[in-house]
Amino acid sequence: MQYFIANWKQNFSLKEAQEWFSRFAPPSTKDQIIVATSHIHLGSITPSPQLSLAAQFVSPYDNGAHTGQIGAQQLRGLVDYCLVGHSETRKDLQETDQLVAQKVRLLQKANITPIVCLDLPYLESQIRVLLLELLEIKNLIFAYEPLSAIGTGQSESPQRANEIAFKITTLAHNRSLPILYGGSVDPFNVTDYLSQEYISGVLVGSASLDPEEFAKIIKPS
Ligand code: PEP
Repeated sequence: MQYFIANWKQNFSLKEAQEWFSRFAPPSTKDQIIVATSHIHLGSITPSPQLSLAAQFVSPYDNGAHTGQIGAQQLRGLVDYCLVGHSETRKDLQETDQLVAQKVRLLQKANITPIVCLDLPYLESQIRVLLLELLEIKNLIFAYEPLSAIGTGQSESPQRANEIAFKITTLAHNRSLPILYGGSVDPFNVTDYLSQEYISGVLVGSASLDPEEFAKIIKPS
């Protein structure tokens, strides 16, 4: 199974999001297509059966007195996946390794699969803190996203991304976890990543904002 994830980031009004879905015509595939939308879209969008939704943010706390937060239990039933540890939320929202680990635990408790973003040079400590909190790393997806490749048009070489993906499986002590690559993926370079032994899909930012462009990234299966 391969994963094709669109990360819309802070884009689209509700109307624009609905237009995106009405124009999105992916090829027929048995692989998993996921759209990570803003919270304002959730509950108002009914994606096609071929598609799952992801949230881009979750609170590190259980439900209670946490004004402004949206918790894993509240996302239950609205999404199947949630991004955590994206370099932008680490920077903009001070999401530390410890908070990422807490979020992963709460999401798993709510039956939502965490998509945990990792980046160099912090990979080892990011995985170490997860292991300390969870004891065993399972039921999640990792996305390797080198900072130098995000939104720059300078994608990392597929061979290097594959080496890092292998390193992640080793550090996590779990060879069966899906590892995705993210960073300037487009319709022209996607096949080079998908053909790598340890890469099971792609996380796509800029190129996912255009539904026709994102559809071209998805390979029929
Ligand atoms: C991202 O931010 O997750 C991402 C992969 O962005 P881009 O595809 O624009 O590099």
